[in-house]
Amino acid sequence: MVIDGHNDLVLHRWRGEESRHLDLDAAAAAGFAGGFFALYVPSAASFKEPEAGPYALPMPDSVSHEDAARIAEELYAALCELPVSQALSADDFREGAITAIVHMEGAEPIAPDLSNLRAWYERGLRSIGPVWSRANAFAEGVPFRFPDSPDTGPGLTEAGRALVRACNELGILVDLSHLNEQGFWDVADISTAPLVATHSNAHALCPSTRNLTDRQLDAIRDSGGIVGVNFAVSFLREDGGLRPDETGIDEIVRHVVYLADHMGVDHVGYGSDFDGATIPAELGGVAGLPRLGEALTAAGLDDDALAKITHGNWLRVLRATWH
Ligand code: ZN
Repeated sequence: MVIDGHNDLVLHRWRGEESRHLDLDAAAAAGFAGGFFALYVPSAASFKEPEAGPYALPMPDSVSHEDAARIAEELYAALCELPVSQALSADDFREGAITAIVHMEGAEPIAPDLSNLRAWYERGLRSIGPVWSRANAFAEGVPFRFPDSPDTGPGLTEAGRALVRACNELGILVDLSHLNEQGFWDVADISTAPLVATHSNAHALCPSTRNLTDRQLDAIRDSGGIVGVNFAVSFLREDGGLRPDETGIDEIVRHVVYLADHMGVDHVGYGSDFDGATIPAELGGVAGLPRLGEALTAAGLDDDALAKITHGNWLRVLRATWH
C-alpha cells in the first residue's frame, strides 16, 4: 500500500485535461491508496519548469484572496467529483481504495483574518501549505532557483503565525514545502505538530531552492516529522536539468537512501508530485510504483523499512497531527 504526499490531479480535472501520471484505475492496481490531493490556485502567467540549471526564475505573480477563494470552490468541486473518499482520520486509508487528504497548496483561499478556516476544516480540509512559491498574506514562498540556498527572503507574517497556531488547534497539517528557509524556521518555532515537507528533496544531492538543507532535515527528524520524496526530475538531479529520459528510478532511490541515512527510516515517505511536475520516464506514472519499491529493496531496504516509507510513516504523522 502506498500513501503519497502530493499530487495535482485536481488541477488537471479543473482545467479539463487528462491526467499525465495518475490514472485512478492504474493507481488501484499499483497499490496507490491515495494521500494528499492538492487544491492549487495557479498564478495568471502559466508556470513552466526550467529546462536546465543554472536558473533563477522570478517570483510568480500573487493571486488575490477573492480570486483564489472563487477558484478554490471550483477546485474543491472537481475533487468531490473524483471517485475517492476524503480522509478525516488516518484510519480511513484502506488497501484497494483511494482516499484523498484535502490539501491546500498556497493558503490564498483562506481569509487573512482566518474567518473561513473553520468552514474549510468542516468540509474536510486537513492540510495547508501556507504558500506555493509566491508571496501571499501569510508568508513569502521560495522562488525556483538552481543552484541556490532556500534562504531567499522573509518568513511568516503575523497572519502566517496565526494560521500555524490555528492549524495546530484544529488539527490541520502545516506543509513546509514551497516555504523559504526563514518561513520554515518560523513554523518550526511555533508549531506543536511534527514538521512535514510533503514534496521536497535533499539539498545536499540537488541544490534547488525547493529542497531541504541538512539542518532542516535535522529539525524534521527531531520533531518526529517526515519528508515526502518528490519525483520531479528537476529536484532530483545533481545538475537540476529537466531530462526525464536520462533520469532513472535510481535518482529517486538516491534521495530516499540519503534521507533515510540522514534522518532515519522513520522520517521518509513518498511525495510524488504526480501531475504537477515532470517525472523520470522510467517511472512513467503511478503504474511504476511497484518498480520503485523493487528498486528500494535492491538498494538494501528491508520489508519493514519499505512498509514505513510507502505508508507507515505517513500514517504515524497523520495520527500525531490530526485530532
Ligand atoms: Zn508543489
